[in-house]
Parts: sequence; structure tokens; C-alpha cells
Amino acid sequence: MQADESGSYSNFLTDGCLCCREGAKMVLFVTGICHRDCFFCPLSDERKNKDVIFANERLVLTDADVLEEARSMDAKGTGITGGEPLLELEKVAHYIRLLKNEFGKEHHVHLYTSTAPRDEELKELAGAGLDEIRFHPPIEMWDKLSGSAYEKSLTAA
Ligand code: SF4
Repeated sequence: MQADESGSYSNFLTDGCLCCREGAKMVLFVTGICHRDCFFCPLSDERKNKDVIFANERLVLTDADVLEEARSMDAKGTGITGGEPLLELEKVAHYIRLLKNEFGKEHHVHLYTSTAPRDEELKELAGAGLDEIRFHPPIEMWDKLSGSAYEKSLTAA
């Protein structure tokens, strides 16, 4: 990617990236459980493979905790992460609906996944109101993406 004439990359950034860049996105960590073991995994021992939820650094026990954290930072959007969020698809759909119902459609929600979601999963996420997906295929797939389930999923998304 190259910067435009003014030296800016903004024209190439998605709405989700622009919102992150403003520091206006809440990070919603929906589970520490993950079926992978990436050598670069940044999760702490407190979170890795633990069934815990955090909104930024706030431990989430109820939906009210999520909403309170979003209000406390005037969040314009939310990035959903983990662990592997799509091991908890229903929970993810629930939080997307919760945030959109409370803050409106314009509350921008994106999701990170290391999986290649199937059509039914993509439909469920889209139905809940998800705005963007960031695909993070595992390293062993990086030179085999063409024709893979990741390519199909990315195209469908
Ligand atoms: S997919 Fe993400 S959470 Fe899972 S092991 Fe890799 S870096 Fe860690």
C-alpha cells in the first residue's frame, strides 16, 4: 500500500480502521478460548484459554458492564476479539445486537477471526449487524490461500 499525494493512508482505510485510529473503538474480548497456538499469540496467562470476557480492561459479568464501558469512553464502535470469537458465535451475535440496539446502527462493529466462517455463520453475523471482518488465517495457510476455505469465506463476506 502506498500513501496518497498528501502522504496520507486514510483513503485506503476502512471505516473500522478510521474509528480505531481515533481511539474511539472499545475492545470487546469475548473469550480467551482458542483452538490455535500461534507463536506470536499476545494473550496473557490471565486470558489465554480462559472463558472470560473483557470490555477494554473491565471484567464483564453482565451486559451492563459492556454498555457502561462503551459509555465511559464515548465509543463510536467496537472491535470484537479473543481468543477465537467465532467459537462463541451466539455470544458474538448477542453483543453486536446489544451494542447496535443501545448506540444505534452507526456504532461500528468489526470482528477478528482466524477461522474461515461458513455461509451460515456469515449470515448470522450480518443479520446481527456486523460491519467488517478481519481475516487472520494461520501462518501455515499464508502461501495456500488461493482456492482455500479462506478465499471462499473472504469472497462471500
Ligand atoms: S488465533 Fe489469536 S488468540 Fe488464537 S493463538 Fe493465534 S494469536 Fe492467539
